Amino acid sequence: MLLTITTTRYPATDLGYLLHKHPAKVQTFPLTAGDVHVFYPEATEEKCTAALLLDLDPVRLTRKSPGGNDFALELYVNDRPYVASSFMSAAISQAYSSAMNGRCKDKPELVDVAFPLEVTLSVLPVNGGEPLLRSLFEPLGYEVNVQSFPLDTQYAEWGQSRYYEVTLKNNIPLWMLLSQLYVLIPVCDNDKHYFIGNHEIEKLMEKGRDWLESHPAKELIVRRYMKHLGPLTRQALDLIMKDEAMPEETEDTPVPVEKIRLHDLRLQTVRDLLLEQQVTSVADLGCGEGKLLKLLAEKSAFTRILGMDVSYRSLEIAGEKLKLDRMPEKQRKRLELIQGSLLYKDKRLSGFDAATLVEVIEHLDPPRLAALEKVVFEYARPGLVIITTVNAEYNIKYESLTAGTFRHNDHRFEWTRPEFEAWAAEVAARFGYTVTFKPLGEWDDAVGAPSQLALFTIADT
Ligand code: SAH
Repeated sequence: MLLTITTTRYPATDLGYLLHKHPAKVQTFPLTAGDVHVFYPEATEEKCTAALLLDLDPVRLTRKSPGGNDFALELYVNDRPYVASSFMSAAISQAYSSAMNGRCKDKPELVDVAFPLEVTLSVLPVNGGEPLLRSLFEPLGYEVNVQSFPLDTQYAEWGQSRYYEVTLKNNIPLWMLLSQLYVLIPVCDNDKHYFIGNHEIEKLMEKGRDWLESHPAKELIVRRYMKHLGPLTRQALDLIMKDEAMPEETEDTPVPVEKIRLHDLRLQTVRDLLLEQQVTSVADLGCGEGKLLKLLAEKSAFTRILGMDVSYRSLEIAGEKLKLDRMPEKQRKRLELIQGSLLYKDKRLSGFDAATLVEVIEHLDPPRLAALEKVVFEYARPGLVIITTVNAEYNIKYESLTAGTFRHNDHRFEWTRPEFEAWAAEVAARFGYTVTFKPLGEWDDAVGAPSQLALFTIADT
């Protein structure tokens, strides 16, 4: 099946830069169950079309997974090789991963520019027909054109099939279009979903961050997207996810340059500050594998401890490290781990004396910080907030770090001291907090300490 994306924004060949695919080349990417080809049927400065052709191999679809279990029997006879389904989402994330993640090496200034974009999906199965299709795409500003196909051209009385040729037009950044297709194609289909797993929850939150929250069909989208969690799906997941180009955002990604000691020091400093300020309830936001939670749990002064992270896998590891299942009932009651995103208002985060964000903000794209600020300082609104982040000035001290690169491959930015302090001061002023700063780690007169901490205290208490 074919997905084409066309733009007429001059020079239209910018589409090639955004997709990281040269218009003169045909490129092929392997998926376990087939291949994805990307090519340009048209590439002039007036009009440029990129085509993604997903060529699934029905035989490979039925092969045994490396785990040894038989794959689903029904995969022998189905429409999967011929329609845009969750395999199309896997193909999008395989072939267009940088574009979907909002990265453009050569023309970064184009990433957030709204382009006039036209998408065609040659065969899209839609469970719910044209009304459903419109209810998914029109609230997001798409102009939707649909052509339906009869079930069988020889037997008109059988009526129309659930397959459509769909054209979608919108004026949005390309990354947003790809994210919306990634989520909504399998939602239309609503058939067995070949890549659903715990990580999908994170992906949905990540991909839907700017539009899903306010979508009128949000519940239906989430319900359909998350469907069929089960052992069969898991087998399929193993098979498909090997092809996934996107790295997982867990702490398993190695920290390349910082010494572990520095991180322990940060965590101890944070705990000591919390003790000093005599807080008793703490929400650790972006708690990762629960290192701070563990330190806090050791002190009886903390009677309520919440760990929140967007990564389910990290929370699982946190649970294991904290030995939650073997903890005495009384201890266990103090601790709670929840999955959530700092980009969405969340009632579960209110009512705490303090919130901590240890090395979290630099993992968010800068345009998302505004949402985080509101979630933490306006809605959760604890009396005290501690935020730590790396100090970019210190990077020159790391020999292995070449200029212009970050300490961790998932960092979206790294701030100097003046940058962090300006941001924190502005946030404090806007939300009625006062803020003080503290260097973290070995001090250097020229570049400061490797990490930096801001302590916000609510001004109106
Ligand atoms: N605070 C931990 C982990 C830091 S790594 C520690 O100091 O050890 C950054 C963490 O932020 C990761 O676990 C990542 O999953 C989490 N994170 C990234 N974006 C997030 C978001 N939008 N909401 C909640 N957590 C997020």
